[in-house]
Amino acid sequence: MDDQEKVIQIAGSITVDELANSLGLSVTSLIGELFKQGIVATINQRLDFDTASLIIEELGIEGVRLEKKNTSTQTARNRRELSEKAVLRPPVVAVMGHVDHGKTTLLDTLLNKKTVDDEAGGITQHISAYQLEHDGRLITFLDTPGHEAFAAIRQHGAMLTDIVVIVVAADDGVKPQTVEAIKFAQSANAKIIVAINKIDREGADVARTMADLAQHGLQAEEWGGDITMVPISARRGDNLDKLLDMILLTADLEELKADIDIPAEGLVIESHMETGKGSVVNLLVTGGELKVGEFVVAGSAYGKVRTMLDFKGSPKGKATPSTPVTVTGFKDLPNFGDQFVEVENEKIARKQALLNAQEVADEAASANVTSTDLLRMMNTADNSKVFNVIVKGDVLGSVTSVVDSLKMIDTKGEITLNIVATGVGDVTENDVYMAAGDNTVIYGFNVSVPTNIAKMAERDGVAIRCYRVIYELLENAKASMEDLLDAEVVETEMGEMKVKGVFRTERTSIIAGGEMLRGKVAVGMLGRVMRGKEQIGEVKVDSVQKEKMDVPELVEGELGGLALSTEHKIVMEVDDRIKFFTRELVKRKL
Ligand code: GDP
Repeated sequence: MDDQEKVIQIAGSITVDELANSLGLSVTSLIGELFKQGIVATINQRLDFDTASLIIEELGIEGVRLEKKNTSTQTARNRRELSEKAVLRPPVVAVMGHVDHGKTTLLDTLLNKKTVDDEAGGITQHISAYQLEHDGRLITFLDTPGHEAFAAIRQHGAMLTDIVVIVVAADDGVKPQTVEAIKFAQSANAKIIVAINKIDREGADVARTMADLAQHGLQAEEWGGDITMVPISARRGDNLDKLLDMILLTADLEELKADIDIPAEGLVIESHMETGKGSVVNLLVTGGELKVGEFVVAGSAYGKVRTMLDFKGSPKGKATPSTPVTVTGFKDLPNFGDQFVEVENEKIARKQALLNAQEVADEAASANVTSTDLLRMMNTADNSKVFNVIVKGDVLGSVTSVVDSLKMIDTKGEITLNIVATGVGDVTENDVYMAAGDNTVIYGFNVSVPTNIAKMAERDGVAIRCYRVIYELLENAKASMEDLLDAEVVETEMGEMKVKGVFRTERTSIIAGGEMLRGKVAVGMLGRVMRGKEQIGEVKVDSVQKEKMDVPELVEGELGGLALSTEHKIVMEVDDRIKFFTRELVKRKL
């Protein structure tokens, strides 16, 4: 960690004035810098998080990190002062680490539950939570998705988390996502335990892995540091009891407690619609006790808990702190990461939900420059191209992941990604309606397209593309954006002829003969006519003759005649040289 790094917290948006102050710049110089980037900003203009980040990046300001101040989510765990009556609660643990280092295997072995086979593309698609018992005590595990594309979800995951178990493969060492996990854990103020995995493997080197981790600021206890590191084999199950012991020990040191005689509260960790059930929402209770029949509000959604199941799917009458449950009864889908609270009755629930919705709307309205606008401004009108998409996913988590991943595609500033709309559930008539006429692609992730909607889309020329594997969706999006790029003109030199005789030279057609000095000439090639150092025009080769016979080409050393056409009214002369080349339009890549 860089001690010099300065953190600027942004709740919703920040004014140009505030940003300048935080950066230690004068307002005029910031506005001036923005102006150089083509952005006309006023002192009181509000910038959203992405825009402010982009500006800092564009201006090349180093040693500053922006952090989202998420008032409801981030502080939920520590928000409430605990009373004397607070009781111990199970720790909430997230398992994070680089892809393939063994997170899924670890959770599988721990839970003795096979989940690997269910995953499309080998990625855990949705955050969910499990509990297991060790030494007669409960530990709650968040099953956080494992691919970098899911950074957003993992970040939220870390905020719910007391302890982050960072899995590092002993034969691979610290990798980018390991570093990311360390950062997330630190920013979420969670305790870190390192599981050094795959110790059964040849090439496993625990000491080297520990040294590697030390380089990234994690010092093992054995080496005088304060981080517990447990060498394990997730596959064989070696040392997993020790890992669980360490989790409980850390929990004890942290004295993780919660009040239970308060209205229930917690966080939404997953939500989706199910036919016949309506909204199905996974909650993690952080305080109080949630019971069936109680009224709850989460963001702009509210409802009465109709059914409540534990992670195994068994009905549960009440849920105590650190317990993950699945409930039905919300009238709308709450957002992933929203805080939920129990309220007395439906009337209060509805009112609170409306207030929350208003707050969100106000915040959105106050950020009057969005990053999309900014990108548009940065790219001058004629070279900026917009890729419009609508994203539909089976659950909010997957929509967030797809959107975040799409935003991560590096378009080199040439393409602006415009997310027209997002939503949970199958592709609808309204989606097609929104997409029509605007060249908008509808991406579906783990959703289907009803036949009538597919027909409607076909009729309106709207592309609907559904995927179950995020990589494939991203590949398609990238390819579609590449299609928007202007093709590159590539010219390849082919050969050169010295003109020795001109048989006819008119405004648009020329017949001339000469000797090939190098390379070759063939029908269809283009040529630059050079007189001395000067280019006097361009010609196209219509036919090639050798000894009065049409031939496909002439090569170095050969003599022959050419029929050329031109738009440049060239009067060809003996001793001109023609440099032949081909010109192709080549699709560009991102
Ligand atoms: P994730 O991407 O971090 O969830 O990694 P996985 O759990 O999917 O593991 C990636 C690969 O490493 C799989 O082939 C696992 O079987 C293998 N693996 C995981 N843990 C161990 C271990 O302790 N020892 C060995 N030999 N292989 C392991």
